[in-house]
This record gives sequence, C-alpha cells and structure tokens, in this order.
Amino acid sequence: MNKRNDHQDPILGKLQNETLVIHADDEVTKDGTVAPAIYYSATFRAQDSIEFADMAGTPRHPQYYTRYGNPVHERVKKVMAELEGTETALVTGSGMGAIATTLLSLVSAGDHVIAQTRHYMSTAKIMDEMLPRFGVEVTLVEQADVSAFAAAIRPNTKLIMVESPANPTLVVTDLAAVAELARPRGIIIVADNTFASPINQRPHELGADVVVHSATKYLGGHHDLTAGVICTSEELAERIWHTHISIGSVLSPMDAWLLLRGLRTLPMRIERINANALALAKFLEEQPQIERVYYPGLPGHPQHELAKRQMSGFGGMIAFAIKGGYEATARFVSALKLSLNAVSLGGVDSLVVHTAAMWGGVMNEEQMRTAGIPPNFVRYSVGIEHIDDLKADVLQALQMI
Ligand SMILES: *Cc1c(COP(=O)(O)O)cnc(C)c1O
Repeated sequence: MNKRNDHQDPILGKLQNETLVIHADDEVTKDGTVAPAIYYSATFRAQDSIEFADMAGTPRHPQYYTRYGNPVHERVKKVMAELEGTETALVTGSGMGAIATTLLSLVSAGDHVIAQTRHYMSTAKIMDEMLPRFGVEVTLVEQADVSAFAAAIRPNTKLIMVESPANPTLVVTDLAAVAELARPRGIIIVADNTFASPINQRPHELGADVVVHSATKYLGGHHDLTAGVICTSEELAERIWHTHISIGSVLSPMDAWLLLRGLRTLPMRIERINANALALAKFLEEQPQIERVYYPGLPGHPQHELAKRQMSGFGGMIAFAIKGGYEATARFVSALKLSLNAVSLGGVDSLVVHTAAMWGGVMNEEQMRTAGIPPNFVRYSVGIEHIDDLKADVLQALQMI
C-alpha cells in the first residue's frame, strides 16, 4: 500500500489529504477571502515600469497575463502539488493539453519514446501519428510486461509514457519497476494518473518524474469542466511552461475555480467511489448474464497483487463483458436508468459506455480486435449514488438483454 502524503505543518505536523484539499492553498493569495475569489482578468497591471519589467521577466508569474498564470491557477497548483507529492504543478485547459504540452516540451527530433499499446485514445494518436511526424521514434509495449519496457530501451530513449490502470481492461503497469529501469539511464517517466487519482495512487513516489491528469475526470468530479494538471519538479515545470505559453492550452479562471471547488471533496468522493466500485464489481461477477468483470480490486484480476502494492484504493472504473453480442450489450446499456450513457468518467454521476459503439466511428473491426475491444464490452464509471440503487439498476437492465 502507498504511503500517504508527507506534508508537514510547522506546528500541526503531518496534515492528511482531507485537510490539504481544503487548506493547502490558504496562503497562496493574500486577499482575505475564505471562498477563493475568481480573478477574471486576462491581464494584470504593474505599479510602475520597474515592477512591469520584473513581471515580464519572471517565468510562471501568477499575475502578469492569464496564459502565463493566474491567482486561481496558483491555488489549484498548490493543492495538486501537495496531493501528488511533487515540488510544483502547472494547469492546462484540458487533460490532452497537459499531455501534449508535456510531450512536446520534453522530446525532440531524433529522440526515442516508449509508450504502452493501450493508452487513452488521443494519447495513442500522439504516439502513432504526431510524434513520428516530428521525427520522434515511438515503440509501443505491452504494459503488463516489465521486460518489454526493458527490451525497448535504446541509447536515444528520452521518455517513457505510462498510464495505469488503462482502458479498456484496466490493465496495470508496474510503475516502480519501470522507474527502476528508467532512472539510472536518465529517461524521463511521464505517468497519466487520471484513472486512479492521487488519493489512490502516487506515481511520483514510485519514481515518475511527471504526473499528468485529465482534471475533467475525478479531480473536478462533477462533469462540468475541462482541465488538465501537470505535477512535477520546479526544473521540469519551467521547461514545460515555456512550451505551454506557446501552445496556449490555457485553463479559464472559471474552470480553475470549479476545479478548486471539486478538489475540496476529492478524498470523500474517492472513498465512496472506491467502496461503490468494489461492491458493484463483486455484484456483477455473481450475475449469470455477465461473462467477465475487469476490476483491479477483484482477486481474480490477473494483476491484483501488483494493484494492491501500488494503489491504496482501486478506483471507480469497471469494465465487463455481457454474455451476448453487440445488440444484447446495446440493449443493456440503453436499459440502465441511473448510469447515464455518456463518455467521460470520474464524476458524481455514474456513466456508462458501450465500448464498441464509442470506437466504431474511428476504428474498423480489425483495429478494435487489435486494441482488445470485443463487441460485448461495457465500461462503467461508478459515481457516488447509493450502492443498492446502482445494483438494482444493473439488475433490471440485465433482464432486458
Ligand atoms: C479523459 C482522459 C484524458 C484526456 O483528458 P481531457 O480532459 O478530455 O482532454 C487523458 N487521459 C485519460 C486517462 C483520460 O481518461
């Protein structure tokens, strides 16, 4: 199990996540408000030209120009750096903004990148199409196999991208083992921690140099904002920030404020979501109409022991296969009343997706087979509703197939 964060208050000692999400940013802006103010200003005035020169010449200045930084961004960054245990953080306008900006900052033509065969779809596209277009070689490896990462390392390997657990079958990457390979060779590890959230998994503690998030998911938690976060060292943050201001994936002050509000309840939500998901996964396993359930918290998950070692909770993402084909699966998903048929994940509302229907538009059957997406596959993002109601909903929908 993971260590909890090691934040120390000079008087109170160690503060827990539940406290940090409320108070870590107390001193960030000294404007006297209890609820944070939204700084809805694209630009900020200096007192005189000496101060202006100072603002213009200070990287990541919080009050110069909102594409460069904003006081609400500062608060979010403080909370996220505490949760992930990194020196600092950056915020972006989306999770893909965080991932694309990080990758484009850290690799150049002639470099080699190792990534997983399974990634979030748009990350996979960066690996398959965008990086090669700029002269970066990419090798994709089976994430459950540490030796595949080792075998892929070349003298020019610059970066390894990991994502755990990953779609669609919640496969887990051994983060500490991959870091052990990368560290002595100076290879940068970027970990997408969206599915787990920092409450369940802290990749930096396990050796990752950069932790990226789609804050659209668990961090925001209410399906109302789009945002990304990059948690890392001061040194890498400054390098990434220089690319960030050119790419311009800016987080709006309003969405930053909503994200901060969402973060206040993150530990509570994750606690409920972990419990709901484990209970629902066990319940699904008992149903005769279900072929198989994929959830790292189930003893039957092929990597359950690894998941237990590197996660303190197993998260809210469940995948399962229905006994039947595409049509039966579509009927099941359509019959659910409480879990809404929508993309995205990680919010208070349970969401469900018929995976083959989601990817049918962009992949042919051959590609779906390679990506391991059978026609009877369902992805379920468990929300914070009462577990008895979620079970009843699944049960009635299973009668409809
Ligand atoms: C959603 C998601 C992303 C992309 O985030 P956006 O906020 O939609 O840009 C990246 N990685 C994972 C694992 C995701 O679930």
